[in-house]
Amino acid sequence: MSNKHTRHQHGFNGPRVRDLNRALVLEVIRQEPGIGRADIAAATRLTAATITNIVGGLIGEGAVEESVDREVRATGQPVRSLRIIPDYASTIGLHFDHEFATGVLVDVAGNVIHKARQELSIEDPQAAVDVLAKLYETLYAHRDRVGKLLGVGVSVMGPIDNARGRVCQSAQYPAWREFEFRDALSRHVDHEIHIENNGTAAGLGEYWFGDGRHFGSYLHVFIGNGLGGALLMNRRAVRGLTGNGCEIGHVNAYRDGEPCFCGARGCLETIVSLRGLAHALGVQHIGDVDLSCLDARQRVAFDLWIDRAGADLGRVLASVSNIVDVADVIVNGLLPSGALLRLIDAARDGAAVYEMQGRPGGIALHCGRAESEVSAALGAATVPFYGNLF
Ligand SMILES: [Zn+2]
Repeated sequence: MSNKHTRHQHGFNGPRVRDLNRALVLEVIRQEPGIGRADIAAATRLTAATITNIVGGLIGEGAVEESVDREVRATGQPVRSLRIIPDYASTIGLHFDHEFATGVLVDVAGNVIHKARQELSIEDPQAAVDVLAKLYETLYAHRDRVGKLLGVGVSVMGPIDNARGRVCQSAQYPAWREFEFRDALSRHVDHEIHIENNGTAAGLGEYWFGDGRHFGSYLHVFIGNGLGGALLMNRRAVRGLTGNGCEIGHVNAYRDGEPCFCGARGCLETIVSLRGLAHALGVQHIGDVDLSCLDARQRVAFDLWIDRAGADLGRVLASVSNIVDVADVIVNGLLPSGALLRLIDAARDGAAVYEMQGRPGGIALHCGRAESEVSAALGAATVPFYGNLF
């Protein structure tokens, strides 16, 4: 039985439909600089009149420019091409995990203007906020190189409480539970702050700055200290009711398994994560070992971990794919690229065993192309764009 909150539906009135069409046209122009109006109409299935209205409005606002090429088609019509004006708008994206914070300044055309990175200690929330504030300052100092800053997106460890602006509700970090994160950060930041689960942020980073746009609908998996997940359907992130959706790392994969960061036990990320790899190699932390220079015992342990983690990841991905009916899965993470590709191969084999047979198309695993060190910060940077433009 649904409660009164979950029954609530959003209608799409006239202006809202116009906004959605405008966002779609702007996105097509962003993804294909130089596209012409006829090709936008073909890509969006909007009428020529609607395209004319929307493009005219975007040009009038200074978001898009149209150039008339000299080539003339057989019809005698000049060929016109459209591009987003990068200076139209910009955002800042911040991300932090257990040890590092990263930040990016990006423009609306998807150019990365500046990157920054700093060490951070997760135990003390206020110290973490101070590091994020310093990164924001560093990035904001480059504001004369971009257009109007629309906001700041922050990728954080979940579970998040977006209504209160609290983050990192994990049992492992009690100091964060009552900490008013958004309020504390807003004392240093003069722009609207958008909080995003780090798994979703990484998935959005892949969409804008990696290969995600080629699929439109996909699962994204990011192997970091934990295991983040994101679901994009028709170009949009599916966040669930509270912004904590697609936590694939906390799917129970091992009955009576090891305790997990989240407070449960047997979660997939207890094995499929850098933390799980460190445990397999017998070290406290993955930074304590050089993966390109393992001793013989660690090499065996590493190979076993690749096989097991890949098989387990594939098994869970097959189940998730069955539930959400998405075939493409993009896997990215902080592993060296050779190791990541081996893990993906093992996951592909694992998924093939467990996927539902007979579904049109089959589950297909791909290696992500977004720069993994900053993909969550990049994804966080896109969130203010969605609120305002896309
Ligand atoms: Zn867990």
